[in-house]
Amino acid sequence: MKQQYFPYAFFQGKLIPVKEAKVSIMTNALQYGTGLFGGIRGYLAEDGKGINIFRLSDHYQRFLQSMLIIDRKLKYSHQELVSITLALVKKNQPKTDCYLRPIAYAANLGISPDLSVADFDFAIYMIPLGEYLSLDKGLKLMVSSWVRISDNMIPARAKITGGYINSALAKAEAARGGYDDALMLTSSGHVAEGSAANLFIVRNGALITSEKTADVLEGITRRSIIKLAEDLGIPVEERAIDRTEIYVADEAFLSGTGVQVAWIREVDGRVIGDGKLGPISEKIKQKFFDIVRGREKKYSGWLTKIY
Ligand code: PMP
Repeated sequence: MKQQYFPYAFFQGKLIPVKEAKVSIMTNALQYGTGLFGGIRGYLAEDGKGINIFRLSDHYQRFLQSMLIIDRKLKYSHQELVSITLALVKKNQPKTDCYLRPIAYAANLGISPDLSVADFDFAIYMIPLGEYLSLDKGLKLMVSSWVRISDNMIPARAKITGGYINSALAKAEAARGGYDDALMLTSSGHVAEGSAANLFIVRNGALITSEKTADVLEGITRRSIIKLAEDLGIPVEERAIDRTEIYVADEAFLSGTGVQVAWIREVDGRVIGDGKLGPISEKIKQKFFDIVRGREKKYSGWLTKIY
């Protein structure tokens, strides 16, 4: 499938045509997975004028925290990363929902995985993006035979490019089996998350998600949903989830920038609840889309509008 993309990228300090934004095959990040990335969505505003970038500042906060975890510095501040992103979106003038992919990568060419001498550069490009996984049909998931990478192995808290081989193996196994995606367990056997999304389940009216120490990416959508649920008076539990709790859950959904709020119909062949979009998932999903399209004044602070 041919990947669509917007014409300009930010690369080596400049906005240039994305076709010219190329790295050497000797690049350290390409050899060793020594990169960090982000995924940010831009939503076409309700009135069709302008793009709402969702939680831009929070994404770059996490991005810089990832740099801290790997103990490397970027030559751009948080404010500069935000400004570069705004300039890129303005330059590309998107007329559809879009996805922004910032990446910090070890740009040096040496043959050694030594991070202590790695020299990080920053780039960002944009693609048009509708649904990453279906929002309507109810997802069919499997629990992967691949175990989630742990904090002392490749920290899932940092969005490290090399760590995504773990997601890639799980996703490929799921795809081969005819599933939409995979859930991964931690090495202690509790539920971590999906290949590129956090998991929520509903049991007895409470919204439950794995705690931040369950080898998950600290999702910005996850954080947003917890806040929304609390504001809606839905009890929220962040705690260890057993695999079999999913089988007996009333509802389940995945959350993430790409995934958005995508409800799950079945896991490992067990139908969740009555196999339909459940009432709590529906409420959260509706609220989420009202917010990102700019229909909810209360959460307008989560959006950066660009014309
Ligand atoms: N977990 C993983 C492994 C992911 O790749 C993503 C997507 N960034 C998420 C969770 C969801 O995080 P966010 O809501 O910040 O996109």
